[in-house]
Amino acid sequence: MEVTITNIRKEFDRFPALNDVSLKIASGELIALLGPSGSGKTTLLRLIAGLDFPTAGQIFFGEEDASHHSVQERNVGFVFQHYALFRHMTVAENIGFGLKVRPKATRPAKAEIGRRVSELLDMVQLGGLEKRYPNQLSGGQRQRVALARAMAIEPRILLLDEPFGALDAKVRKELRRWLREFHDRTGHTTVFVTHDQEEALELADRVVVMSQGKIEQVGSADDVYDRPGSPFVFSFIGESSHLPVEVKQGTALFQGQPIGIPEAQDGAADLFFRPEDVALVDASDTLFGKVIACRRLAGTRIAEIDIANEGHAPYHVEIEVPLHAPVEIGSDIRFRPTRWTLFRH
Ligand code: ATP
Repeated sequence: MEVTITNIRKEFDRFPALNDVSLKIASGELIALLGPSGSGKTTLLRLIAGLDFPTAGQIFFGEEDASHHSVQERNVGFVFQHYALFRHMTVAENIGFGLKVRPKATRPAKAEIGRRVSELLDMVQLGGLEKRYPNQLSGGQRQRVALARAMAIEPRILLLDEPFGALDAKVRKELRRWLREFHDRTGHTTVFVTHDQEEALELADRVVVMSQGKIEQVGSADDVYDRPGSPFVFSFIGESSHLPVEVKQGTALFQGQPIGIPEAQDGAADLFFRPEDVALVDASDTLFGKVIACRRLAGTRIAEIDIANEGHAPYHVEIEVPLHAPVEIGSDIRFRPTRWTLFRH
């Protein structure tokens, strides 16, 4: 089911939790809403679900304007981080619940419900556990039951709010892979909320990066990581450093000194780069400074460098250096970004 969100605004007591948000979700797409706390992810998900309604703007399911339809009318399935299962019901009863409570006219026969439940149990790879109660399951198994329960009503779209947030890192990673496979098998249009960038980049077809009630960028993992469209996205996703520069006569200057970065357009800008996108170079027109700190990661090292020129306050950036390069705290270093983005002021 294709979902089109146009110019959505959502206010809570005049506070705009969402401000002019537009987004087109293709049928069968797996979309991640990614952003810091308070950026409006859950609010957007709740509006798509029909748990809340926009102050202005519209939400279309296919051609149908669903902006003011109820959850039931929209026929969406959702799973929340703490969307507890019914404790007094078995796994099978939990999964079948949404079908059992349907009005008589649309309620499947008991045998049909049973058949659907066992199909779903296979789908979420929990066959054999149907008689267990939630407290006899692991956290990961419980979230898979919640997913099967959401799927039971044959939703037009699946909405997940930090579905693995409460689980430990290892189970989380397993479930992440599992969800991607599950999505590829079932092909449901799926929107999930996360503040974990790794989860978003690994799982989603497209990532929607949100900040302060607005969409900053929508794109594939490569788009948002390699081609961040704003300083916010550059800093929020992955590691990065930035410095103020002045472009004059085709070259960037930092604190008045050329740093070997050619640029066409003159003016003030912020130069952003990732720690892995630098080269140590022996030239006069480079960034240079003193190593302030050095930390070892698994296969590499990150050095923190004070690049301030004489007479300026300290200015720190981080770069990646090879494990065995002669780089130590206190040593001088010259380097130049090999890939960068300039954001004009
Ligand atoms: P988190 O990652 O912390 O869950 P989020 O990105 O999902 O954050 P939302 O829960 O959508 O953010 O909240 C967006 C903003 O709207 C926040 O400033 C929040 O305080 C506000 N907000 C959300 N729900 C309500 C509400 N029912 N009443 C008043 N303000 C609300």
